[in-house]
Amino acid sequence: MRVAVFSTKPYDRRFLDGANPSAGHELVYLEPRLTRETAIAAAGAQAVCVFVNDELQKEVLEALAGQGVRLVALRCAGFNNVDLSAARDLAITVARVPEYSPRAVAEHTVALILTLNRKTHRAYARIREGNFALEGLLGFDLHGRTVGVVGTGRIGAAFAQIMIGFGCRVVAHDPYPDSECERLGVRYLDLPELLNGADIISLHCPLTPETYHLIGSSAVAQMRSGAMLINTSRGAVIDTRAVIEGLKSGRIGSLGLDVYEEEADLFFENLSDSLIHDDVFARLLTFPNVLITGHQAFFTEEALSAIAETTIANISAFEQTGQVVHAVSIERLA
Ligand code: NAD
Repeated sequence: MRVAVFSTKPYDRRFLDGANPSAGHELVYLEPRLTRETAIAAAGAQAVCVFVNDELQKEVLEALAGQGVRLVALRCAGFNNVDLSAARDLAITVARVPEYSPRAVAEHTVALILTLNRKTHRAYARIREGNFALEGLLGFDLHGRTVGVVGTGRIGAAFAQIMIGFGCRVVAHDPYPDSECERLGVRYLDLPELLNGADIISLHCPLTPETYHLIGSSAVAQMRSGAMLINTSRGAVIDTRAVIEGLKSGRIGSLGLDVYEEEADLFFENLSDSLIHDDVFARLLTFPNVLITGHQAFFTEEALSAIAETTIANISAFEQTGQVVHAVSIERLA
């Protein structure tokens, strides 16, 4: 099958080429993101393969369908960037990679926590300048602290398990509690209770209309003073402006982000010679207690290889049977 692969980076090519030989699909690698303007580049393809910041709203899907595209193969778990009802109406099948390496994201979340807490990023810079002073580097023991996990699906559960290993008390909020988490001692609470009791709050729920700006000004006001907030899920789960106010007031003691609401114009590109026009993002960068990574939590050898294999399996299954292995559809969500 001819597949237009949007947002291609050298690592995507390496791993997809590694998984494709036995399937033999014709993968056409395209560097641009999929948008209304770039959809034309999929001409001649029966499938598009896309990532987190590609745009698959109604008009883009209409343009793709008009060119003969019948399959959208997401090479990620989240599907908040796809208009699923438009896809159904246009008879476009949508596939995703529901699980590749939950531990990759969970471990990166822990990296953000450890770095923010023990300030190893600041220590690294200081030591290289011959500054061996400890002022400003004071952290706290994780052992005995309360960690609040919002969303205990694959990633949240893996993260909870690691934090239990650190000796933390783990509480969680999820409309569907996980029995394995409960067995490990995780206690489920409603969101205000979790926000009020946690020293560290980590977000692992998907972005849906219900979770859009879940952490806004009222949630910030319910947090324990000085709490650490971590988001490795999707940017818009947080209202960034409200969180900035929380940082200014000290209610939020530190913030770790791997995702950002407006990341599509920033992340995955080298912009070091450009001006950043996003003033909200620029404000975040001014805080010494904010640590941002550019949507790299998934970025491990194991995850990239699993993503490529599942993506190729979805495309092959569609070619052979008209069905994919991991479908996403509006009916399944209902
Ligand atoms: P999952 O579907 O296994 O788990 C999501 C969990 O969130 C489910 O248990 C669900 O019940 C729960 N949930 C839904 N609505 C909720 C709400 N309002 N409050 C609390 N919990 C709620 O998904 P996953 O594989 O664990 O991934 C979680 C999210 O992580 C994805 O949706 C994606 O956005 C993000 N993600 C980020 C990266 C990255 O590189 N930063 C990589 C993969 C996934």
